[in-house]
Amino acid sequence: MNKLQLQGIGMTSQRTRSRLVQRLKDQGITDPQVLEVMGNTPRHIFIDEALSHRAYEDTALPIGFNQTISQPYIVARMTEILLAEGPLDKVLEVGTGSGYQTTVLAQLVEQVYSVERIKPLQDKARQRFSLLKLRNISLKHSDGGMGWTERGPFDGILATCAPEEIPAELLLQLKIGGRLVIPVGGSRQQQLKLVIRISEDEYETEILEGVKFVPLLSGTIR
Ligand code: SAH
Repeated sequence: MNKLQLQGIGMTSQRTRSRLVQRLKDQGITDPQVLEVMGNTPRHIFIDEALSHRAYEDTALPIGFNQTISQPYIVARMTEILLAEGPLDKVLEVGTGSGYQTTVLAQLVEQVYSVERIKPLQDKARQRFSLLKLRNISLKHSDGGMGWTERGPFDGILATCAPEEIPAELLLQLKIGGRLVIPVGGSRQQQLKLVIRISEDEYETEILEGVKFVPLLSGTIR
């Protein structure tokens, strides 16, 4: 786990960040560790300068290539659900995007493995992790629908893009007791699901809430 070293990064005012944390609490986020990390993570560095004045609004914002940085509420919520039964060691993220969700995870679990299909987004995210001196993140340019077999099985998997159906590979790469948090459904509206692997071949699924994510697409972009 990492504590962020923020010297020289220019955090927005404490007040702006406390407001974001208060809003997350108002929306039902209760995990104190998640709230602390949300309040300490400089979201403005994950967004192009032209939009960075909106970084602490609770909204998704464009990051190029038709993709978006997730809304802080949903990042906090998915993280809280993933960690609800205690700390996790190895977590796979599908869809690095800007690296914002990755950065939140990296402060709360031992090691984050994150896959992204669009190379330029991955490259930018990598620069941000190095700026933040985060050393427990491994990245791969690939189709995350296939998971990351060589690094699995995982204690937790979190997808930040929505497949129409849960890819079998992700289920197989969960440890027994492992937790998968994933939006599932078509392009207009999806359901956030929590899947727990309870034995070698048994999974338990809980539907959590309606959400809207960009789709999980196959193949990669250089
Ligand atoms: N957590 C990110 C969200 C980015 S949007 C953030 O906070 O910035 C979702 C990301 O998933 C996009 O970058 C998109 O390119 C990526 N994605 C979509 N399908 C994918 C796939 N099959 N494998 C890996 N990444 C994928």
